[in-house]
Amino acid sequence: MNPLHPPILPGASIGVLGSGQLGRMFALAARELGYRIVIYSPDNDTPAGQIGDVEIARSYTDLDSIREFAKQVSVVTFEFENVHAASTSAAAEFAPVRPDGRVLHTTQNRLREKTFLEGHGFPVTPFRRIASLADLQAAVKELGLPAVLKTADFGYDGKGQTKIHSADQLEAAWKSLNGAEGIYEAFVQFEKEISVVAARTLQGEFAAFPVFENSHANHILDVTFAPAAIDEKLAREAADLAAGILQKLDVVGLLTVEMFVTGDGRVLVNELAPRTHNSGHLTIDACVTSQFEQQVRAVCGLPLGSTDLRRPAAMANLLGDLWVNGEPNWAAALEDPLVKLHLYGKAQARPGRKMGHLTATGETTAEAVRRVTEARARLAQPTRR
Ligand code: AMP
Repeated sequence: MNPLHPPILPGASIGVLGSGQLGRMFALAARELGYRIVIYSPDNDTPAGQIGDVEIARSYTDLDSIREFAKQVSVVTFEFENVHAASTSAAAEFAPVRPDGRVLHTTQNRLREKTFLEGHGFPVTPFRRIASLADLQAAVKELGLPAVLKTADFGYDGKGQTKIHSADQLEAAWKSLNGAEGIYEAFVQFEKEISVVAARTLQGEFAAFPVFENSHANHILDVTFAPAAIDEKLAREAADLAAGILQKLDVVGLLTVEMFVTGDGRVLVNELAPRTHNSGHLTIDACVTSQFEQQVRAVCGLPLGSTDLRRPAAMANLLGDLWVNGEPNWAAALEDPLVKLHLYGKAQARPGRKMGHLTATGETTAEAVRRVTEARARLAQPTRR
């Protein structure tokens, strides 16, 4: 243990910026370990606030309130990374912020993130900064089509993204940025999408979860399974990439690396998230240590837990769309005893909103995927009265 940074032990308070489902599952894990939880976000009765000991509903830009919050806790972490640098700096006056504001600054802007990755030799798809229609026209000439134009700041789940197939779409694509800075990325003809959730401590101890394989629907994660159906060499390469990125960014806490696997067997980094990740939810039911417990351990300076997968597993997201005909049939989904239900305590179901997830384990990943998708399909069965 580092004598300058003794571990933050159970009984202490952990502060969380953000109050969605990632904060909820973090708070559940932290409570199991005996910590107290203070949730900070602009809202009340939130998924995380329902579990935390204290819920503070104040703006992320209210620096005095952020300082008051940080005074109450021994460490601050986050589940929502689009918090401005001024807010994390204000929190850092009173408690360590893990991962720190520097990591946040790099990863909350796609241009900074890709420039960092490229600069350190990590593989990314070719990209260009876009600040005008002329930049966009030049990028098409240099990198070709198809491509994806994304807003550089504050994007997630495919929001603020336009796929460009032909030159006659350029003007509309440029307008869709609304004057914001953009990033032009060559389109990757990927074979699959994978992710690595990894943790690193102050002492540099590192642990990665097994590689997850992800499929998306309408740009939103739909199903994840583990272990990914990739060969061992590729899995090692993905884990090594994650180790290198966490080390170069000097992350204390968790960081997720989303990657593409190309047809010719290369791994390219798509995006970083300095936190737990939707693709890691299956760790709750399938790994020795969940990603949320690992975040607690990493930010509190405790030794990391084993990331071993007990059994092949699969996770299916439950979006608000499932509520179109009323409350889903939970009992029908749970008819399979290997299926676990996680709901996030959100009162309003809206299309595309992540309301919960199901996890299933099995002898093989194929069996786990079959069990979880069949359980999700049963949610639409009429409920018996
Ligand atoms: P992102 O918000 O960058 O994670 O993108 C959301 C999803 O859009 C990814 O998971 C991919 O399925 C797709 N996507 C993003 N960027 C690219 C790209 N450069 N080439 C191909 N597909 C992409």
